[in-house]
Parts: sequence; C-alpha cells; structure tokens
Amino acid sequence: MRFLTADYLFPLYKAPIKEGVLQVSDKGEVIALFENRNEIPQDKLEVFDGIICPGFVNAHCHLELSHLLGIAKKEKGFLDFLATVQKRNNFTKDAIQIAIENAEQQMIANGIVGVGDICNTADTLLQKRKGNLQYYNFIEIFGAHENKIEAIFNDSIDLRNQFRDAKIRATIVPHAPYSVPPKMMRKIAGLIDEKDEVLAIHMQEALAENELFESKKGAFYNWLSNIAASSEIWKKRNRSIDILAELGNNKILLVHNTFSKKEDITDNYYCTCPKANLYIENSLPDYFIFNSEKLCVGTDSLTSNNSLSILEELQIIRENTDFDLNTLLKIASKNGAEALGFKQLGTFEKGKIPGVNLIKGLNEIKVIE
Ligand SMILES: [Zn+2]
Repeated sequence: MRFLTADYLFPLYKAPIKEGVLQVSDKGEVIALFENRNEIPQDKLEVFDGIICPGFVNAHCHLELSHLLGIAKKEKGFLDFLATVQKRNNFTKDAIQIAIENAEQQMIANGIVGVGDICNTADTLLQKRKGNLQYYNFIEIFGAHENKIEAIFNDSIDLRNQFRDAKIRATIVPHAPYSVPPKMMRKIAGLIDEKDEVLAIHMQEALAENELFESKKGAFYNWLSNIAASSEIWKKRNRSIDILAELGNNKILLVHNTFSKKEDITDNYYCTCPKANLYIENSLPDYFIFNSEKLCVGTDSLTSNNSLSILEELQIIRENTDFDLNTLLKIASKNGAEALGFKQLGTFEKGKIPGVNLIKGLNEIKVIE
C-alpha cells in the first residue's frame, strides 16, 4: 500500500486537492483519496514536488508507422504527407518491429497508459500481445474505388478478427470522408456489434477537404479525379460531417478537425493532434469551437511528429487556449478514456488502475511506479 502526495492532486472526476493524498494498492488500484496529509501517519507518506494526475490517454496514434520517423518533410501539406506514408513498405520487417517497440517504450516513459491506435496492417499485433499498454485498435478502411469495396471490406474483417482472436479490442472504421464512398460507410455501420465501443475517423485535416465537398474542386478533387475515385464521395455530400448520418449516428471520435467550424461540431468526441497539424499543415484547430469536456488529445504517428508525448501536445494547446490546468489534464486523461471506453483509466476514482504521473511545471514528467 502506498500514500502519494504532491503540491496538488488532480483526481479529474472532482476538483484538484491542495496537498491531497492518493492511496493506491501495490498493483496501482485506487483505494482512497484524502483531503489532508494529517490523516495519514507521517512516515507512510511519499511526498513529491509538483502535481500528481492519472496516466495519459493518447487518443490517436498509428504505432505501425513509427519507422517513418523523420521521413516526411514539414509543412508540405497533406497530399505530400500521404505520398510519404506510401513508402511504408520500403523497410524490413525487423526495422518496422524495432520502431514499434521503441515507440511503445517512449509512450510508457511519457506517462501514457491507453492508446487509440489506427491499424492498416497486423504489424503491431506482436507488441500489443505483450499487454504493456491498453489499446483500442481502429482497423482503418481506405478505399475510394467503388469496384474494390467488397475486397477491401473482407480484408478488413480478416484483420479485425486477427486482433479480436488475440483478445485485443478492434473496430473497423473509415479513414476519412474523402477516402470512403457512402456505400462503404453504410457497410461499416452495418458491421457494428456489441464488441464495438466507438468509431474513429480523420476529419477536416486539410482545407482541400472542405473545398472538395463545398465547391467540388481543389487539390483533393483533382487528386481523387486523377485516381478515378468514386464520384459518390463528393456528389452525395456537401460537408464532411454528412458522413455522420451514413454511419448511423454511432459514437464517434473525430480526429484532427483542423479546419472545422463551429457549425461542424456535434455532440461526439473530438481529438486534436496539435504537433502533427503543425508538422503537416502548419495550422491548428480553433480550440474555442469544442466542448472541452469532449475534447481528447493524440500524438498521431511518428511520421508526422518527432515524439509521442501527451505533455508536449498539452503545451501547445495551453499556448493557444485559455484552458486551466484541470481542463488540460482532463483532455489528456479522462476524456480520452471515456471516448475509447477505457473503464479503468482516466481518473482517480476508487477501484480504477489509471497509472500515476508526477508532473513538474508541464515540461517534466515522471511515472510513479
Ligand atoms: Zn491519423
């Protein structure tokens, strides 16, 4: 049994407690919170400088792209970035596995306990079987061609089942509004069963996505026309969020939202990946349009980021909003856990095993083990 205390304790399901004490079992289960250090015998207290909060949830990552670190050129826009990702197979299986393992280690060292992870392959399965972190896997469908819908759909079910057979949570999701036709969206929605908690989709990551739906022109329109993508993608939709109805109004985590407007925001969960947005588009979302209780944060992959650190992402959000520290920490832990259905994570409520982070001045983090 341990009694941990610091300058402030952030339980996240209630207000911060000055010099509060967190009692955890040896396996990290929250036993109790105390408002006052005097309630605990002095010799049992472990006193730290800084603040104590629950482990972080990285609500959006692509662990399997970790080997592409440093390959993409910065601020070249989304289509250039996509071309870089297509080089993903020019690497050995060993190089890919080592990069995945190192990236996971980095997340653990940075106080991350749960991850919403996009998968196009089974490359991460080996690492995830070790159970070092909790993962919610999103098996991503990227398929803009009408005649390939059946084949891509069936391959995705096979991939999802590989994860589910390993007792690792996995849900089939669409990549983005511009890369999946309405027919495929409805097939994805039709597949949702009791094992699925939430869908994730990349949303309004580039200005050209809005242009595609609103004006039927621009860089995305030209690109999709060139590759003979299904014209149903833009003909049937006038805004990106028109896909929500196609997905049957299920619980959805909308990722990026860099070019979303106030009127695009729904009651769903939203995930921001500020460092990746700066890396690719040199832009950030308008943070004032979101409900901060439903805002999560992710690192995206090491293809569009130089680190997997929620704390670094928080620093950018802090510089661009008036969110207080408690709100920032909810974005980093509680909201992501709620969005992804990580019932043991996100707050210091009794019975949870949420991990414990010690933070000093928002630029130094230590995991209390
Ligand atoms: Zn992504």
